[in-house]
Amino acid sequence: MPLLSTDAVVLHSFDYSESSRILRLATRDAGAQSVLARGARRASKKFGSALGLFSQGVAHLYLKSGRDLQTMSAFDCTHARTAIGGDLERFTGAAALAELMLLFSTDESNEDLYMTLVHALDAIEAAPPDLARATSLAGAWRIVAELGFAPALDVCGTCQTLFPVGQPLQFVPEGGGVLCARCARAYPSGRPIPASVCATIAAWLLAEEAPVLDLREARAHQRLLREFVHSHLADGRALRAFEVWEHGDWNAT
Ligand SMILES: [Zn+2]
Repeated sequence: MPLLSTDAVVLHSFDYSESSRILRLATRDAGAQSVLARGARRASKKFGSALGLFSQGVAHLYLKSGRDLQTMSAFDCTHARTAIGGDLERFTGAAALAELMLLFSTDESNEDLYMTLVHALDAIEAAPPDLARATSLAGAWRIVAELGFAPALDVCGTCQTLFPVGQPLQFVPEGGGVLCARCARAYPSGRPIPASVCATIAAWLLAEEAPVLDLREARAHQRLLREFVHSHLADGRALRAFEVWEHGDWNAT
């Protein structure tokens, strides 16, 4: 079995047997991988005390084609990202990004997608708690774009016509984004949105400075993103991390 050493981020982790863990990784060189880390529940040199969610490092993998669960012999953590776990706004946003990666990425190598994830997690870790939600939204839309289904924002997603200024916009997840009024009639699920919402998403996609959102605006953006992502899932699965991120009122006492 060939040994592959690749940069990787831990997206999901659970205990397996008394001593091992199973992890889902985003890797730079081998896409998404499920791996068994034998002995990782015990303190060891091979895995250290790392392997926390969102931690980043070099994963040493034995890959065998056709196998769903690969073997990870060691993980050299370079960045534990403990600041994400220490704040619920950051944590729930990062968990939604992880869910997005787990649902859509494959074991094909995609360095651009991997780096987009890494930069998004770095930005969430560095964001003040009151900006963590918007920072997570920006990262999620960039991952959506890298996955190949960026939303139509300035031309109709169906007929490709440019929107005349002042025309009401309809956001239609199944239609690939914003549609003109004529095309939107075919989709009862369309939702009218202000042009400023499109401008904000476009700024996030271009990594430009976006307006500061209040909580109500941020939640409206989260709903739009969730509906858009959900419409691209073939099997209609629930987006559990997205729902916790959107509805969890962590400040309630
Ligand atoms: Zn149209």
